[in-house]
Amino acid sequence: MSQDATKLIHHPYRAPGGFEAVVPGVHKASTVIFENTAALKTRQWKDKSGYTYGLHGTPTTFTLEERLATLEGGLQTLLAPSGLSALALVNMGVLRAGDEVLLPDNVYAPNKDFVRVELAHWGISHRFYDPLDAAGLASLIGERTRLMWLEAAGSVTLEFPDLIGLLQVARQHPKVITALDNTWGGGLAFDAFDLGLPAKGDSKGVDLTVHALTKYPSGGGDVLMGSVTTRDERLHQQLKMTHMRLGLGVGANDVELVLRGLPGMPLRYAAHDAGTRRIAQWWAKRAEVASVLHPALPDSPGHAHWAQSCSGAAGLVSVVFDEAQYSSERVEAFVDALKLFKIGYSWGGPMSLVMPYGLQGMRQFGALGGKKDGTLVRFAIGLENVDDLLADLDQALRVLA
Ligand SMILES: *Cc1c(COP(=O)(O)O)cnc(C)c1O
Repeated sequence: MSQDATKLIHHPYRAPGGFEAVVPGVHKASTVIFENTAALKTRQWKDKSGYTYGLHGTPTTFTLEERLATLEGGLQTLLAPSGLSALALVNMGVLRAGDEVLLPDNVYAPNKDFVRVELAHWGISHRFYDPLDAAGLASLIGERTRLMWLEAAGSVTLEFPDLIGLLQVARQHPKVITALDNTWGGGLAFDAFDLGLPAKGDSKGVDLTVHALTKYPSGGGDVLMGSVTTRDERLHQQLKMTHMRLGLGVGANDVELVLRGLPGMPLRYAAHDAGTRRIAQWWAKRAEVASVLHPALPDSPGHAHWAQSCSGAAGLVSVVFDEAQYSSERVEAFVDALKLFKIGYSWGGPMSLVMPYGLQGMRQFGALGGKKDGTLVRFAIGLENVDDLLADLDQALRVLA
């Protein structure tokens, strides 16, 4: 009996190498075996020349990292267990006690929360800036400013920032690292490392990007993962050490799902984009809404900046209901009346989603035409037939009447 157990663990059979399939294999490990103590002492993982421990990388994670670096236009990528943990990794890897971090007013709210609460505990201060006011940014950058977040388009309200203008100001301060949350653009709408700016090191754009792979790279609504991509080797190694010390790991089965989702991502992105533009244009003709927020619409905040660097757009559109006419209760009744649009956080999967937000207290700067009240509803457009989605919106709007 015990003899069988040993044989089952130390089995002599080795499958032949050279197996080549369309998709890469899925390798799982905590322990990685060294053939002898010399290998133990010499094997390197930081340059991806070898394997030492599951957390330090497997053929599966290295493969996804390399493909994401290509998608983002970077050179190196690190994987994290969620988009939010990738944002936290950058904050913790770059900032030290006494430093200051700048965030756009419309930054992904959990990043705002991380900075306000967790980083404050470590003696790191923060300031918010207006993403549409590049000139105003200059006066906010000081001696202690070390990190500046950018997001294009911003979360929920979808203003497209003056990316080029903001980067021109920030890049006059070599100590300031510019970090873009690139989830919306997905590496497809624009090239974050080549925005046509003069080269700073190896980049003609930002210093690093973060991508919530949870969204379009997965595309299934069934994976949580994030990534950090750089072009600068020193910055990459700095973040990699923080990544290692924090013990951030991702499961091989989740990596497999993202690897499977990636090849179809450009086609899905284009389909989400086309459907969303139709729906945004439909909303623009409806009297119920005071504004429709989608960077490709000429009236949407930051449209000119979007047009400067993008052709594509993600599948998100927000509408602001006329507050004088429609109370939040009535807007919520409209949301509840939707049948195909399901109420839920996140986006990027096949199913269309809807989420209401109260505007009060949401923004410091007047990007929404100074509007501070009322209800905003964000739609994440999935891959359903667009006519069916429009019919669903139309029937639900009848409860508003
Ligand atoms: C969803 C999202 C994240 C966080 O991703 P999770 O995997 O859900 O943690 C970060 N930034 C943006 C812009 C997002 O939309």
